[in-house]
Amino acid sequence: MQDLKTKKRIALLGSTGSIGTQALDVIRENPDAFEVEVLVGNSNATLLIQQALEFKPNAVVIADESKYQEVRSALLPHEIKVFAGERSVEQIVEMESIDVVLAAIVGYAGLASTLNAIRHKKNIALANKETLVVAGELVSRLAQENAVNLYPVDSEHSAIFQCLAGEWENKIEKIILTASGGPFRGKDRNFLANVKKEQALKHPNWSMGAKITIDSASLMNKGLEVIEARWLFHLKASQIEVVVHPQSIVHSLVQFEDGSIKAQLGLPDMKLPIQYALAYPNRLKNTFPRFDFSRYPQLTFEPPRPDVFQNLQLAYDALAKGGNMPCVLNAANEVVVQAFLQDKIGFLQMSDVIASTLSKAKFIVSPAYQDYIESDAEARRIAAALV
Ligand code: NAD
Ligand code: MG
Repeated sequence: MQDLKTKKRIALLGSTGSIGTQALDVIRENPDAFEVEVLVGNSNATLLIQQALEFKPNAVVIADESKYQEVRSALLPHEIKVFAGERSVEQIVEMESIDVVLAAIVGYAGLASTLNAIRHKKNIALANKETLVVAGELVSRLAQENAVNLYPVDSEHSAIFQCLAGEWENKIEKIILTASGGPFRGKDRNFLANVKKEQALKHPNWSMGAKITIDSASLMNKGLEVIEARWLFHLKASQIEVVVHPQSIVHSLVQFEDGSIKAQLGLPDMKLPIQYALAYPNRLKNTFPRFDFSRYPQLTFEPPRPDVFQNLQLAYDALAKGGNMPCVLNAANEVVVQAFLQDKIGFLQMSDVIASTLSKAKFIVSPAYQDYIESDAEARRIAAALV
């Protein structure tokens, strides 16, 4: 067990986002357990500066180089190092003094820094599921070679990880990922054809960044999570099931070979899985709100509707085909989500474009890192032309 008196020094990639700001809430609540070593953000200089002034990290990186002078002049008097640009985001994780990297950049943009952190033997608290979707085979292999642990932050995967504590030797028969069903649960395709981004951005249970909120409405988020689970827990696709659970209280379940099922429950609040990933194997006392059965008289479960929400099936198909197909799926999805948020395409067209991109992109059975980069770029070109 880690001595609670030695603080874990954390590099927070994506500190200005939904996961990033909640991670800082966790750190603020546990000043004896954690220390912020590095903060990384994309372009929100004001928030990044404010965070740096509060948490006094060793270094700060802003990806958007046009904001460099603003951040530098604000932090220089406080002896906080400031860097800018994509290369700096990738390189900052090499710092000797970092114990854990919280990977909370959204999308493909988070891949390079997470891979570099693994190569430099940093343990990873992984929120950026796209990393495992794009390059799951490579990321798992590098993690193993460098004896790096990947601690899941995604609530479903944290639930499974928590169910597996003390069960490392016992085989998993299957896992069951719960899905809220999003704002359009129970709707048919006629309804979905006309939904607007404002409706899609209203998630019933979770408050998250825009990209994952759209992914939740389209069920692509669950598809990405199936692929994420495949790599985190070394499972076959046939061992991963999805069940819709609108209350988001049961965060996921594991069924062992004797038929016994373990589940992890709690309120839908990302601070708990973030804290578990950062403090593992310890559980830290906190003041987050507690679950109360009297406020949830019914916990319900229903099958997903892949005929209505086709993204879930597309993700299973990409996983079954393997190679670079999940990378293509992810790239096409990032393009269509952006296009939907800019009112360029309708909700159902997102799946159509992803399906066409999957059928048009070059198939690579055993991709190396460079292949993933090229595949991502090719899929973005194909998808953009279809939008
Ligand atoms: P968000 O959009 O709120 O935040 C994204 C963060 O990444 C921001 O800090 C942004 O500045 C930074 N960023 C974006 N592009 C960057 C770039 N090119 N270089 C450097 N930084 C960049 O997203 P989020 O909701 O916090 O999600 C982050 C990740 O966590 C996603 O992969 C998401 O799937 C995953 N996740 C989020 C939640 C949640 O509740 N929000 C739950 C589970 C998993
Ligand atoms: Mg999740």
